Amino acid sequence: MQPRHPFIPYGRQTIDEDDIQAVVNVLKSDYLTTGPAVENFEKKVAEYVDAKYAVAFSSGTAALHGACFATGIGEDDEVITTPMTFAASANCVLYQDGKPIFADIDPETYNIDPDKIRKKITPNTKAIIPVDFTGQPADLDEIMEIAKKHNLTVIEDAAHAIGATYKGIKVGSIADMTMFSFHPVKHITSGEGGIITTNNKTLYEKLLQFRTHGITRNHSLLNENHGPWYYEMQFLGYNYRMTDIQAALGFSQLEKLDRFVQKRRKIVQQYNNEFNTMEQIITPFQHSHGNSSWHLYVIKLKQDLLSITRKRFFKELNEANIGVNVHYIPVHLQPYYQKMGYNKGDYPIAEELYDHIITLPLFPAMTDENVHYVINTVKKIVQEYQIK
Ligand SMILES: *Cc1c(COP(=O)(O)O)cnc(C)c1O
Repeated sequence: MQPRHPFIPYGRQTIDEDDIQAVVNVLKSDYLTTGPAVENFEKKVAEYVDAKYAVAFSSGTAALHGACFATGIGEDDEVITTPMTFAASANCVLYQDGKPIFADIDPETYNIDPDKIRKKITPNTKAIIPVDFTGQPADLDEIMEIAKKHNLTVIEDAAHAIGATYKGIKVGSIADMTMFSFHPVKHITSGEGGIITTNNKTLYEKLLQFRTHGITRNHSLLNENHGPWYYEMQFLGYNYRMTDIQAALGFSQLEKLDRFVQKRRKIVQQYNNEFNTMEQIITPFQHSHGNSSWHLYVIKLKQDLLSITRKRFFKELNEANIGVNVHYIPVHLQPYYQKMGYNKGDYPIAEELYDHIITLPLFPAMTDENVHYVINTVKKIVQEYQIK
């Protein structure tokens, strides 16, 4: 029997000695939680995406919650998002007692379809949460135009898209607020963590306050002032603070982001070069309006040309020790959403996509050997099961 190829995960972090040293330095300093490292990290992210402000959170999900709060989402308010995403993109609306409204995706780009957004707008619509699926920016100009016309806030879920550009502009300064996640599977990590970037000072101040119990010490915001100890809790916020330990790691990682993105793009090119020649596989759409930062590489199987189900295809890759995944199970199909009354069949394009996709490994530390092993394994399966 041939020895098994070592396991290749679908994604993983890259941590170097200098990342470790950055964290150790914080552990030896005066601050462990929100101190100078968080501020430095916020400044650096804002600079990187060319936004005026950034507010770091304990997770990307907490950051999305903050953005919904800052938007003023409340009971009966509707927020339009895509079903083809991680649950957090819609859950953040529920945290504020709002109602997530799904608009189906474009069958080519897999991003939310602006025409479908238009059809979902009601007098209760308050915001749109487009997701830059796999790192490809959504149709931001069109979405911003819809928002302007109807007086809506755009919260871009760019958990997949740090380092991506839209018409030459870095993702992070286009929407009213943009969220990035630093979960280990994303481009750069802080362990857990997220951030909102914005050019709007009012939103920025609300986010800062929301992150820490609704408390402020900002003199220009206080109603009274009893003395130097004085602070006010002005609304119900949370403890969503990022620690300096996390921020130091994030800062150190950000210095490598461009290199990581370059490597991801190179791997995608290698995959595309091979898979584009196979009619059984649909490779990811390449936008003309944006340059993806490639968080995920999602292939779609043309099932009419294969005598194998997606489930079996997935298993074969697993058996070859390739850590594939499926992104995503459409959010409205989750039992919790079904119980709230969302129905299977309502977003047919997302559901059809879900039935035929597989996420192949993609991360900066992948070796050429890894990439070729994945390519050859996929090819072997396709050759074995192709319908001629
Ligand atoms: C990862 C992710 C989130 C949530 O980020 P966390 O940092 O894990 O809370 C939200 N939306 C999308 C699309 C994601 O991929």
